[in-house]
Amino acid sequence: MYLRYFCSVQLPQSLLNSLQALKGFDEDAFINVHQLKEQITSVRLNPSKHGSALSFENNLSGPVPWSSHGFYLKERPSFTFDPLFHAGCYYVQEASSMFLEQALRQMLDVSTPLKVLDLCAAPGGKSTHIQSIISNESLLVSNEVIRSRANILKENIIKWGGSNVVVTNNDPKDFKNLNGYFDVIVIDAPCSGSGLFRRDEEAVQEWSESNVMLCCQRQQRIVADVLPALKEDGVLIYSTCSFSQEEDEEIVDWIADEFYLKSLRLKLDPKWRITETITKVQNYGYRFWPHKVKGEGFFISGFKKSSIEKTMTIKVKNAIEKASKKEIEVIAQWVTPEGLDFVKNGNTVYAWPRVHFESMQVLLSHLRVIYSGTLVGELMRDKLIPNHALAMSRIRNPEVPQTELALEQAIAFLQKKDISVDAERGWQLAAYDNQPLGWMNVLHNRTNNYYPKELRILKEKLP
Ligand code: SAM
Repeated sequence: MYLRYFCSVQLPQSLLNSLQALKGFDEDAFINVHQLKEQITSVRLNPSKHGSALSFENNLSGPVPWSSHGFYLKERPSFTFDPLFHAGCYYVQEASSMFLEQALRQMLDVSTPLKVLDLCAAPGGKSTHIQSIISNESLLVSNEVIRSRANILKENIIKWGGSNVVVTNNDPKDFKNLNGYFDVIVIDAPCSGSGLFRRDEEAVQEWSESNVMLCCQRQQRIVADVLPALKEDGVLIYSTCSFSQEEDEEIVDWIADEFYLKSLRLKLDPKWRITETITKVQNYGYRFWPHKVKGEGFFISGFKKSSIEKTMTIKVKNAIEKASKKEIEVIAQWVTPEGLDFVKNGNTVYAWPRVHFESMQVLLSHLRVIYSGTLVGELMRDKLIPNHALAMSRIRNPEVPQTELALEQAIAFLQKKDISVDAERGWQLAAYDNQPLGWMNVLHNRTNNYYPKELRILKEKLP
């Protein structure tokens, strides 16, 4: 394959050739923006963990115009050494992909209770974003097929602190039992990745026309497998970070044609410089060209399902054990119990929002659920050993004692080092800037640090 050579990035000529006829493509500008290799950093704030003085406040360079909580930064700071990053106060996310918010808000009434499936969810950028947009009465199922990636997803979901979420580790075809179950399905499909060439040179080396074809077949398989789980009148959102038509417009046409889905049109502010592409058969897609927008390459489109499919009754198989009255008294010292059900798996207690009890029971019966609601802790006779997820959560009882740490102490805590604090004995939340980081147990002669080993900062020094 012939490559065009530049001082830094070598773009595949066959990719450039394939893009020539696309609206918004400008070869020289496209090549130039890849040569410049500008690194754009953006973050999305967590609206449920506000009130904190962000360490990068002086480093903000303006809002991401299509997202309510997205901001560009002038420079990339060391997120590892910012305790508020570990407290889940923000997520570092590529700006173009924050456009999902527009798709959700324009295609749905997000104030109503919705059941949302984020099918290809790891590491969790779109899932944490969806959580910040939907109501508490809505439920998000955040799924990832690859086990190791599903664990990272779970960690990010826990950090974000919501309870109206279930994390699953399933193949798209496993959702066939949940016929007509979801109001919304988001497929942020695995793709050939050309949209990320500017930040990831390896993606350039790995790109090939044959991989585009493989990706496109896999995308079709994923869509076909999961579509029965979408409700009649439900909304499907499909996105990729590929520039290739085969993975974008051609998939859009295939979805509309094969499943009789109606393509949905979005309103765009011309200042956003996003390109609307209208396919050969009048379907809509939205392209983010890096030479036009301040972000990486991205494509998104949305559909409404209108076929008349009968929704089956979905059976519940598993019996769920709820905590006893006496156990709830213990749990209530840690959690504000209103509106919650406490379910047990052995001695492990999860809090499920009562409005989602039945949904969570259904999901548990049909999917490989690796996390649901909020993991409260382990019951040990008349005591509860709190879990890290409770420290990150909004359901925590505000009476739980909390000790404020200075920056260096907070970093030492996040490195899981021994720290000494001047605080009352017993379980305490270690906090920085009033944002809980995790648990510590203050004993008479030492403090035990309960920050999860797998999350600890491995680097030694503050930069
Ligand atoms: N939505 C994520 C976010 O915003 O953070 C990024 C998702 S990434 C573009 C695509 C995901 O699809 C990856 O996590 C990958 O492991 C997963 N994936 C790979 N093959 C898949 C398949 N056959 N079915 C479903 N998901 C798959």
